[in-house]
Amino acid sequence: RPKAAVLVTGSELLTGLVQDANGPFVARELGGLGFEVSELMLVGDRPEDLRSALDFVSGNGIELVVTSGGLGPTADDLTAEVVAGFCGVESHLDDDVREVINAKIARWASRSGFDGAALDEATRKQAMVPEGASVLDPVGTAPGLVLRGATGPLVVVLPGPPRELQGMWPSALSSPPMAELLAGVPHAEPRLLRFFGLPESEIAATLREIETSGEFPELARVEVTTCLRRSELEVDLHPLPGAEPTAEALADRIVEVHRRNLVSADGTTTDELLARALGEHGLTVATGESCTGGLLAGRLVDRPGSSSYVSGGVVAYSNEAKSSLLGVPAEMIETHGAVSPEVARALADGARERFGADVGIGITGVAGPDGGTEAKPVGYVCFCVTTADGGVIARDPQLPGSRSDVRERSVDLGMHLLLR
Ligand code: ATP
Ligand code: MG
Repeated sequence: RPKAAVLVTGSELLTGLVQDANGPFVARELGGLGFEVSELMLVGDRPEDLRSALDFVSGNGIELVVTSGGLGPTADDLTAEVVAGFCGVESHLDDDVREVINAKIARWASRSGFDGAALDEATRKQAMVPEGASVLDPVGTAPGLVLRGATGPLVVVLPGPPRELQGMWPSALSSPPMAELLAGVPHAEPRLLRFFGLPESEIAATLREIETSGEFPELARVEVTTCLRRSELEVDLHPLPGAEPTAEALADRIVEVHRRNLVSADGTTTDELLARALGEHGLTVATGESCTGGLLAGRLVDRPGSSSYVSGGVVAYSNEAKSSLLGVPAEMIETHGAVSPEVARALADGARERFGADVGIGITGVAGPDGGTEAKPVGYVCFCVTTADGGVIARDPQLPGSRSDVRERSVDLGMHLLLR
């Protein structure tokens, strides 16, 4: 696979105050297009740092570099200049580009009552185009660039704000030099398998067994990576061109061995499966949450179109709220404790009935770090899903990790219980 590098600039990213959203986005996109991303680097706003990063990655047989950030109008935004220097070309003021930027600023200025003309000097800088570069229309005010020197990789220069970078990505891909490069990239469809409740070590053991069996002679031509995300194990099978049949057969075998834990064999997410299942059966769901404090409802409504299957939810954190809002009997809380399978079920029933939904889910647990007892330690969480026709699914696992781990895992498990 051809190699690509991603260089993310911005001193604010090095302090840890802002988390890099662009590196992962671009890396995932490039991987999907058939590149091997061999470097993903964060550099500050100093031009010499960006230059040495460019020199470093290009010494590595790279065919494509994508940069993010430093295209703004301020003095510390120097990416275009540095990249031009790296490619060994001069820049010139491009009147067409300047006009596009000025028109954008004028529109924005008239809406916000700002004096757009005051920004003229700044737009001048953003309209400096390196010789031979393709210009990508700005999403904000900064245009993107695609250029290449006499030797060395193709460089795609994109703005830092994630909304602008992602908005510009399609036009970056269809720019002539990029389209030409992409046409030469051999592409093989990856397979993504999703499992729930399966430790990474078990997949590793399965892969070892398959390897020693010698059953798949082309195994080395399929790159397998595993990743734990949202309590699910994602198994990514990346075939080299021509090894697709091996990847397919390997995927089928892994699915066969771990069928009990399979969420989807085609990468479909739990959230999507749940949305589809509720939609197909015309069912609505309501939540009664204690320890997750609305996180499950938030996850459910994260999907566009969720209003057709989410009725609503209640965060019933205090005992009084559990009783007054969701009708959990005070004696029940007294007898069994607020964290108990009984209360989880009452939360589910209460939410379902109050919202007139078909399915209710109740979650109550000890998120920690305090409040654990010997019988109900930190991480003990009770779940119950009830349906209008009398169906009940209950679980009360012991979840590991910190307070936020416990709450996040609870949401993941809640989603999976709803999917049942
Ligand atoms: P402009 O300065 O015109 O906004 P720019 O291309 O110069 O555009 P930066 O100055 O690098 O972009 O970043 C502007 C803002 O966008 C940053 O303050 C930061 O909040 C956000 N941002 C930039 N890069 C990233 C990134 N990699 N991940 C997340 N946010 C980012
Ligand atoms: Mg900037």
